[in-house]
Amino acid sequence: MSLILPKFEYYKPSTLDEALELLAKFKGDARILAGGTDLIVDLRSRIKKPKAVIDIKGIKELHKLEYIEGKGLIVGATVTLNELLEHPIVKSKFHVLYDSVRQLADMQLRNRATLVGNICNASPAADSAPALLVLDAKVKAVSKRGERVIEIKDFFKWVKKTALEPDEMVTEVFIPEPPEGSRGKYYKATRNVEDLAIVGVAGLVAYPNEPSKRIVRLAYASVAPTPIRIYEVEELFKRDEPLPKLIDEAVNIALRKVSPITDVRGSDWYRRHLVDVLTRKLLIELFLEG
Ligand SMILES: Cc1cc2nc3c(=O)[nH]c(=O)nc-3n(C[C@H](O)[C@H](O)[C@H](O)COP(=O)(O)OP(=O)(O)OC[C@H]3O[C@@H](n4cnc5c(N)ncnc54)[C@H](O)[C@@H]3O)c2cc1C
Repeated sequence: MSLILPKFEYYKPSTLDEALELLAKFKGDARILAGGTDLIVDLRSRIKKPKAVIDIKGIKELHKLEYIEGKGLIVGATVTLNELLEHPIVKSKFHVLYDSVRQLADMQLRNRATLVGNICNASPAADSAPALLVLDAKVKAVSKRGERVIEIKDFFKWVKKTALEPDEMVTEVFIPEPPEGSRGKYYKATRNVEDLAIVGVAGLVAYPNEPSKRIVRLAYASVAPTPIRIYEVEELFKRDEPLPKLIDEAVNIALRKVSPITDVRGSDWYRRHLVDVLTRKLLIELFLEG
């Protein structure tokens, strides 16, 4: 990989309107720069060769991190991962998100990288994605033509492909208030602490002891072309049956739904093994320990 960046026009708008104007003008030949921790790597390796780079860090209205009691959390496009971790409500109310973001790379990288950049990069290994999937997050996409809300489950289309149109950008992610009393956790298997996930699994459980009301959600990173939530396990846990039996069934469903690849981080077989082990561990802990 060359350390030299390719040639591109660099813009640093100070308003959202200016950024949208530029996106419309370059018709898909421009890239948004937030923290740059993915984009700069992709530019250097020539995976991306845009005519223009639009640095959004100077747009004040995108630096919004706000919790609205009873409604949820708004995370603007330039909010860094460390800013998110430092917000007390994120740890207490949105623990599964906190747990996933604290395991993303290292302190230095999290000082620059954003949550929105993590999902817009659309890596199957994006650590925040499984947490956002179990939390039913919504993505606000804006262009000169107007704005729309995309459910996070519809946002990831393929490896490095999102539902965004070429002239659209994400201004914020909205994470609704999690179900009352819910518990959440993220497990990440890696080769070393700063590496991408070999497998990541996020879980959210509410009302563990009341089968009819019980909520169980599971979502994964690095087991398919996109981060995935496995909806098929959710009805299962409404059955009033012994927990070990339900967990066995949930693991079997998960193993049928994943389609991992073999790459430098792990084999298809090893990833399946991790899905089995991590799903069991996560569910047992969420049910029994909280
Ligand atoms: C050493 C290293 C370790 C890493 N470790 C991890 C890890 O453990 N887990 C993990 O998940 N990731 C990891 N990453 C990847 C990266 O750091 C994260 O994905 C990060 O969150 C990206 O955020 P960013 O703000 O830097 O995005 P950028 O690089 O600025 O942007 C990423 C992509 O999203 C687009 N984009 C950004 N913002 C918007 C927007 N508002 N609207 C539309 N498009 C937008 C950009 O054009 C670009 O294509 C690592 C990267 C490095 C270099």
